Order: sequence, then C-alpha cells, then structure tokens
Amino acid sequence: MSLETIRQAITKACQKAGRAEQDVTLVAVSKVQPNARVAAILDQGHRVFGENKVQEAAGKWPAFRETYGDIDLHLIGPLQTNKARQAMELAQAIHTLDRPKLATTIARLAQQLGQCPDLFVQVNTGQEDQKAGCLPADADTFIKDALALDLPVRGLMCIPPVDEEASLHFALLAKIAARNGLKGLSMGMSSDFEVAIAFGATHVRVGSAIFGERSYE
Ligand SMILES: *Cc1c(COP(=O)(O)O)cnc(C)c1O
Repeated sequence: MSLETIRQAITKACQKAGRAEQDVTLVAVSKVQPNARVAAILDQGHRVFGENKVQEAAGKWPAFRETYGDIDLHLIGPLQTNKARQAMELAQAIHTLDRPKLATTIARLAQQLGQCPDLFVQVNTGQEDQKAGCLPADADTFIKDALALDLPVRGLMCIPPVDEEASLHFALLAKIAARNGLKGLSMGMSSDFEVAIAFGATHVRVGSAIFGERSYE
C-alpha cells in the first residue's frame, strides 16, 4: 500500500464512524525501515512518525529534522527509566507510560527540562505476561497518580493480543479512557486501524502498510 491509500482508508473510516478526519492522527511507524523509505514518506509531506527504540530514533531523526524541519516524533515502545531523559528530549509524545517508577522519573525530569512530551498510559488490555502496560484493574489508580504528578497524560494506548478480536480491546481501552476523562486513544495498527477508528482511536500507529514489511537483518 502507500501513504495515500492509508490516508484514503482513514478518511473513509472516519466518514463511516461519523467522526472528523482531523481528530485522527496517522503515526507512520518507521522503526527498522531503511532511511530511503522514510525519506520517501517525508518527501510526500508527512511529518508524524513513530519509533519503538530510543536509540534507533536518536540515530535517525536529528538528521531528518535538519533536512525536513519540524517532525512530530512519537515513541511507542517500552521505555527504560534510564532512557527517559533522552526520550523526552527527542520526542513530542511517549505512548508507553506504564509504571509508577517511570511516572516519577518523567515528572522529575520534566521539572529539570522545563518541558514534557504528551503522554499516553499503556494498558495491557490482554493481560499478557510478555507485554508492557499496566493491568486494566490498576489503570484508574495509575492514571490518577500520574495526573497528580502534573504529568500531561493525554490518553491511553494498547496493543491487542494477536490472536484475539481487536475490537474488544479497543472498546475496553475507550471505556477506561472515558471514565478517567481522557480524550486520546492510541490504538490500531496496519491490520486493524479502521476498526480502531470505529472505536474512537485518535492516534493510529501504522507501519508496514505504509513502508512495506520490516526486514530484521
Ligand atoms: C511496530 C509497531 C506498530 C506498527 O505495526 P504495523 O503492523 O507494522 O503497522 C504499531 N504499534 C507498535 C507499538 C509497534 O511496535
């Protein structure tokens, strides 16, 4: 597919859901992709990208920013506390706030840096052992605690289990967000972003459908 095809699919999904297109941000997930593919998407005018590793993002985006100007960078992978500072200096949004220690670290750094990216709380809706995110049962308390630290929590994020109906997880995430007064919903990837939009996604994270398959060599 192409960027244009994905944009059109987003437009259609918004129309079908009776939602405004500008309420859905397309985060183009460029992790592992060759620079030439990323440059091709930048050349088409797209400026919102997602990376899952701080190190990789730090090696890639300063140079692209020099060439292309402002870029909205979203970090969507698990974040170690010792990488939090670098993440906050690099990104406009972090989608993976998921534990108290990371919350207090980011709050402290926000004081030092005088700035903080937009934050999404990752919820492990499928309660999978191998996945990051706070458990659904802990989400309300964790969100309240993060807000009490003055963190700019904009919404929630989830990655549904691969073998389950994604819509159940999108609905659960939307419900937790609503009862906590949060507007942002980071959900939906290449295979299910249209479904996610129907359930209220404000940020869809689409990688392979835009850039092609990732090859981890
Ligand atoms: C890689 C990744 C994506 C994009 O996945 P695709 O299936 O390539 O669209 C989205 N979200 C997260 C958290 C990812 O790590």
